[in-house]
Amino acid sequence: MALAARAAGVTEFGISDHLVLPPNPVVAEKASSWSMKPEAFGEYVQEALVVKNDLQGPEFQFRIGVEADYFEENIDSLKAMLAKYPQLDYVIGACHYAGDFEIDHAAEDWEPLDETARKRVWEIYLDKIRGLCQSNYCDFVAHLDLPKKFGARLPESLKSRMEQILQAISQAGVAMEINTAGFDKPCREWYPSEDILRQTVDLGIPLLVNADAHATSQVTRYFTEAREAMRKLGVAHVCEFSQRKCRQILL
Ligand SMILES: [Zn+2]
Repeated sequence: MALAARAAGVTEFGISDHLVLPPNPVVAEKASSWSMKPEAFGEYVQEALVVKNDLQGPEFQFRIGVEADYFEENIDSLKAMLAKYPQLDYVIGACHYAGDFEIDHAAEDWEPLDETARKRVWEIYLDKIRGLCQSNYCDFVAHLDLPKKFGARLPESLKSRMEQILQAISQAGVAMEINTAGFDKPCREWYPSEDILRQTVDLGIPLLVNADAHATSQVTRYFTEAREAMRKLGVAHVCEFSQRKCRQILL
C-alpha cells in the first residue's frame, strides 16, 4: 500500500488497519472476518514501524494509524490499549455496529429491515457517534454517514439530530474525514454527503481526505474530486497527524 501511494505521487501516507475490541461474543465473531484480532495489535504496530523505517524519507512521510471501533461498554479498555503505543500518529474513530447489527457488511443485512427498523439503526448509530466524540480517544471521525452505504438514507426526521452530532464533533475538537470510498459503494457519493459536509465546513471542523483504500489501486481514489469540492466550499486547509497531534496544512 505504501509503495503504491509513493508511486502515485503521495508524499505523506498513513496506514490504518481495523481494530475492534469486541464488547460481546457476537461482535467478536462478526469482526473476526474483517478486523485484526485485538491481541495482534502490538504486532501490527511493530510491522508498521518496520515499513516506516524502510520507506520514510524527506520525500515520503509514513504515518501509523488505526481505525478503532467505539463501544461504550469497553471504551476505557480501548483507551488503555491505545495509550501503550506512542508510535501511533493518529486514531480514527469509527462505528461499524449498531448493537450487534453490522452496518456496512452487506446489502442483504438491510433488506429485511422496514423503514422503522432502518430509522432505529440510524438512531443507535448517531447516539454512538455522539459517545465516540465525547470519549476523547480518536483524532478524527470515520465515514460519518455510513448507514447510507446500501441506500438507507438519513431519515428526514433525524436531520436535526445529525446537526447536533456535528455540534458535538466541533465541541470535542476532533476532525472529520471526507471518505471517498463511498463513491464506489451503492450510495454513489462520499461520506459525508454534500449537505452534511457544508455544515461541517460552516462549523469550522477540521477536515482531511481519506481514500479508505483496501487495495493498492484505491490509494488516491477521487482525491481530485474531493479537492475540487473542498475548494468550492471555501476550505483552505486539511489536517495531517503526527504523534496524535493535528497540524493544518494548505489544501
Ligand atoms: Zn470503516
